[in-house]
Amino acid sequence: MDAVNLLGFDLEGLAAYCEQLGEKRFRATQLFRWIHQKGAWEFSQMSDLAKSLREKLAGRAHVTGLSVISEHVSADGTVKWLFDVGQGNAVEAVFIPEDDRGTLCVSSQAGCAVGCRFCSTGHQGFSRNLETSEIVAQLWYAEHSLRKRFNTDERVISNVVMMGMGEPLQNYGALVPALRVMLDDHAYGLSRRRVTVSTSGVVPMIDRLREDCPVALAVSLHAPDDALRDQLVPINKKYPIAELLDACERYLECAPRDFITFEYCMLDGVNDQPEQAQALIQLLRGRINCKLNLIPFNPFPASGLKRSSRARVQAFAEILIRSGIVTTVRKTRGDDIDAACGQLAGEVQDRTRAHIRMVRAPVVVKNSAP
Ligand code: SAH
Ligand code: SF4
Repeated sequence: MDAVNLLGFDLEGLAAYCEQLGEKRFRATQLFRWIHQKGAWEFSQMSDLAKSLREKLAGRAHVTGLSVISEHVSADGTVKWLFDVGQGNAVEAVFIPEDDRGTLCVSSQAGCAVGCRFCSTGHQGFSRNLETSEIVAQLWYAEHSLRKRFNTDERVISNVVMMGMGEPLQNYGALVPALRVMLDDHAYGLSRRRVTVSTSGVVPMIDRLREDCPVALAVSLHAPDDALRDQLVPINKKYPIAELLDACERYLECAPRDFITFEYCMLDGVNDQPEQAQALIQLLRGRINCKLNLIPFNPFPASGLKRSSRARVQAFAEILIRSGIVTTVRKTRGDDIDAACGQLAGEVQDRTRAHIRMVRAPVVVKNSAP
């Protein structure tokens, strides 16, 4: 039998594993704390663990992170790591330091099968889902390497956003145990409000997440109507806006925050017109408690799209704010190292021919101003 990577277990899973070895539950808690709170990977390092358990683990189990292909540090302090996940695939994670928090942006898949027009990952196609251990390994590595760098024993990462490469709700089975590790007080102890799953709108999985592991939810909206959203976020053809908003309302019944964040990537001449702001107001106001986060589009060569001007973004935001919808404009961080939203490209051995499908089929904008 292959040795198991203990980074792939939440505490329940690790307890069940220890039981199989004839060990008590509290041993699992000890082990879990060594791995996640101290960043240990060698069983011999785990000094208060019974020698008999250490001997049982040796050979049967291991704690193995991902190999780091590169690390880039931006002028603004943002750090981007490229991790090797084998067979020519690599994924990225990004640390964004701010005064009052440290956020890690984590990947869930090598590539992404949703294929949004404006997203570099989407253009690369899809290779495979990450395993739980590979999702957790990004946090494990980032947290402990940053503690070393800042020479501290205190927690550095206070927030996690599942906004790296991939659609987390299309890798649900691996995602949920990884979220549980992030939340567990014996591991990273992050509050549910500080762990955010961002989704393009996989409606049935939004409902399951509400039951299994409610954390903060961000939904990538990007358009006020189905005709445009079908083109920008193709999964909309399967789960159109009305169904998506219904799922968001249901989610709020159990969510740790009393609002949903809608992300809206501002594309020049495509979704940034004043009428489209009005249509958004019609869609959202009075219907759902939300915050709107406008993201200036981060261009990449193959997209064929342009970033909205600052003035356009500001005008769009003002219309929404005047209507009473809480609206913010996301600051772009780490763009000098290609670490900004939608620029994460990693390395993807595409199995879906996405790049061929997406070659410059123009986005057709109906009803927009000249
Ligand atoms: N698949 C998930 C999470 C990863 S994408 C989702 O789509 O929500 C994280 C965020 O970055 C999403 O809101 C996405 O729409 C946005 N994004 C993607 N490409 C972008 C780009 N080129 N510029 C700005 N934001 C982008
Ligand atoms: Fe996938 Fe999200 Fe990119 Fe769309 S925006 S292609 S869902 S990673």
